Amino acid sequence: MDISHPHPALPSVATPSVLPKEGSTVGLSAWADIDLTAISDNVAELGRRAGDADVMAVIKGDAYGHGLVPVAGAALAGGATYLAVAQLSEALAARAAGVSAPILTWLFPPGADLAAAVRADLTVSAGAPWALTEIAAAARATGSAARVHLKADTGLGRGGAWREDLAGMLRDAARLEAEGIVDVEGIFSHFACADLPGHPTVRAQQETFVAVIADAERVGLRPRIRHLANSAATLTNPSAQFDMVRPGISVYGLSPVPDIGGPTHFGLREAMRVTARLINVKDCGPGQGISYGHQYTTKGETRLGLVPLGYADGIPRHAGNVGPMQVGGRHYTVAGRVCMDQMVLDLGADSPAAAGDEVVLIGREAHGEPTAQDWAAAIDTINYEIVTRLGPRVPRRYLGVQQ
Ligand SMILES: *Cc1c(COP(=O)(O)O)cnc(C)c1O
Repeated sequence: MDISHPHPALPSVATPSVLPKEGSTVGLSAWADIDLTAISDNVAELGRRAGDADVMAVIKGDAYGHGLVPVAGAALAGGATYLAVAQLSEALAARAAGVSAPILTWLFPPGADLAAAVRADLTVSAGAPWALTEIAAAARATGSAARVHLKADTGLGRGGAWREDLAGMLRDAARLEAEGIVDVEGIFSHFACADLPGHPTVRAQQETFVAVIADAERVGLRPRIRHLANSAATLTNPSAQFDMVRPGISVYGLSPVPDIGGPTHFGLREAMRVTARLINVKDCGPGQGISYGHQYTTKGETRLGLVPLGYADGIPRHAGNVGPMQVGGRHYTVAGRVCMDQMVLDLGADSPAAAGDEVVLIGREAHGEPTAQDWAAAIDTINYEIVTRLGPRVPRRYLGVQQ
C-alpha cells in the first residue's frame, strides 16, 4: 500500500457554514450561536474539579455539533492540555486547520493512513494487536516514533483489549518502545456506567484499570498519562481522575447526569443556543389538523407559527407534539409532526407573534429557556444526541474570544 499519499477515500469533516462574529442574522431561517467563552469557562471549571489531573477535551463529532476548530481553541484557552477525537479524519482535519496541541484519535480501521497520523504528530490509540502492528509499520515508514495510548477494555464491552489480551500487546509495545519505534505515552479505558455513580461496574472497572497499569509497569512500560474519566466520572467520582480526565459533554455545558443536576449545579453553562425565525404566522380556526398525518388538531381559534427547521436539520422526528420551544417568552411544544424542513407551533389566539420573530429551540437552563436536555427528555434520548445531530444547514455564529 502506498502510504505516502493521504487515503483518497478519507472523508473530509463536514462543517456547517460560519457567520461572521458580529454577523447579522437578518434573513436567516435559523442559526446556532456558540459561546466560546462558555467553553473556556467550562473547561476551566472541569480543571478545578479534576484537582491535579489535566484535562483532555473531547471534540469528536464536530465538537458535539459545536464546531471542531473553534472549540479546540476555546478548550485550550480554558486550560485543556490535550484534545481527543474519535475518527482519524477528525484529527487530521484539526491539524490541517492549524491546531497544534496534542490530539488523541481512537477510531480507525486496518489500512488507515497511520503514516499521515505520525507525520501530523497525532497520538494514536492501540486497542487491538493489529493496531499496534500497523502503528509500528507507519512509524518505521516515516522514520519517526509513533506516540501511542494503549486502550484497555476494563468492562465497557466496546473498544480496547481485554486485560488478558493486552498482556501480549504490552510486551510488544515495550519491545517497540525499546527500539524507539513507539512512545507509549498513555494508557486509557472508558466507563460503561459512569452516569450511574453507585453502579458496581464503576468500581470494578477502576480496579481492573489499576491492575492493567500494574501489568504495563511489570513489562517495563511507564505510561505517563493514565486516563479513565469521562464527564460523568469527572463530575461525580474524583477517585477516577488519575493523570488526566477526558470529558466531552460537560465541555459544552451539558450535564452527563441530568438526574443528579443540570449545568448550573456543576458550575457549567450551555455553549450552544439555537434560534429560528417564524417564517409564517396565520390565523386558524378550531378543529384543523396540523402537519402531516394530522397528529395535532387545533382546539379553538388560534394562530399558527411556522418554524423553518426539521429533521434534515437534526430536529428529531420523534419530537412531534413534544419538542419544546419559546416565542416571545411563552413556552410551546411542536404541534403535530416534525417534517423534513419545517414544523408548526400553535401560538394561541392572543399571540402577538409575527413572521420574523425569533423562536428559541435550545437555550439556557438558568434563563428558563428550552434546553438540549429538555428536547432529550421529551423524546427519551440524551442531550448528546440533540446537539451532535444539529445539521450543517444551520450556520454557526461564534461568540466570545476566538483563539
Ligand atoms: C465520547 C467519549 C468520551 C467523552 O464522554 P462524555 O460522556 O461526553 O464526557 C471520553 N472517552 C471516550 C473513549 C469517548 O468515546
